[in-house]
Amino acid sequence: MNSRLDAALNDTPKSIADYLRSLFNSENFDATISAQQFEELLVLSGLSDDELRICLLPFAAAYSYAPISEFYVGSIVRGLSGRLYFGANMEFIGAQMSQTVHAEQCGISHAWMKGETGIIDITVNYSPCGHCRQFMNELTTANELKVQLPERDEMSLQQYLPDSFGPADLDIDARLMDGKTKSYQTHESDPLVLKAVEALNYSHAPYSENHSGVALRLADGSVYLGSYAENAAFNPSLPPLQVALAQILMADKSFEQIDTAALAELSAGKISNLDGTQSTLDALNPDITFTYISL
Ligand SMILES: [Zn+2]
Repeated sequence: MNSRLDAALNDTPKSIADYLRSLFNSENFDATISAQQFEELLVLSGLSDDELRICLLPFAAAYSYAPISEFYVGSIVRGLSGRLYFGANMEFIGAQMSQTVHAEQCGISHAWMKGETGIIDITVNYSPCGHCRQFMNELTTANELKVQLPERDEMSLQQYLPDSFGPADLDIDARLMDGKTKSYQTHESDPLVLKAVEALNYSHAPYSENHSGVALRLADGSVYLGSYAENAAFNPSLPPLQVALAQILMADKSFEQIDTAALAELSAGKISNLDGTQSTLDALNPDITFTYISL
């Protein structure tokens, strides 16, 4: 178990500490809590739904990778399936500040890459910044999404982001997490490149049409995918490398284990994720083998 999860258990109500310890120690634990497990925790704890989510926040924040700010943010995202996904903030020494991933983006991309097609609510231990409010306004469920903070009443995203700007202002119907896929293919046979193309086909890039995806292979052979998540306001777009790194973080693995990386994008796209991907990978570890393919 992540040692910070263990430390957070010391501050958890005794009624659910044993249940959570057993869950976190399970080989299958993947930083998510099923709807059924959440129901069981509600019964054991006697807490209300929002109180329990707030109680679980320190466990999401335990995944935080924040060597610059040392400010540990956790998010808990509930997908439409009812499953809850942890997210945490990520910062990269030596990379541009714009490569930073906020806990909300991490939790949402975690849910997205595991197949959710929208989120019901998000619980965060600090107020979402303007950037994240805009990021969330791209979601399929942006109009219904609820935001819960500690010691605050639940509010909707639209209350946090009045007079919002979104995809409809640019006449775009696609929404982040809409589950739609593309069907681009490559003649390359490298399995990691094929995984990057799989991630490309799942990306949301209606503004630049630069559908792109990243696949990262760790020294233990495991592979993590990241699909590009574009935003109507452009700047809050989450690059595919960041989405893949978020999956590694939530799998409780180390970026130091990244061995090989592949980026696939479309040659006809109006932008490129190549420079940003290369420079952040270099900042993480210049020895990572990197393959680039433009379809
Ligand atoms: Zn933020």
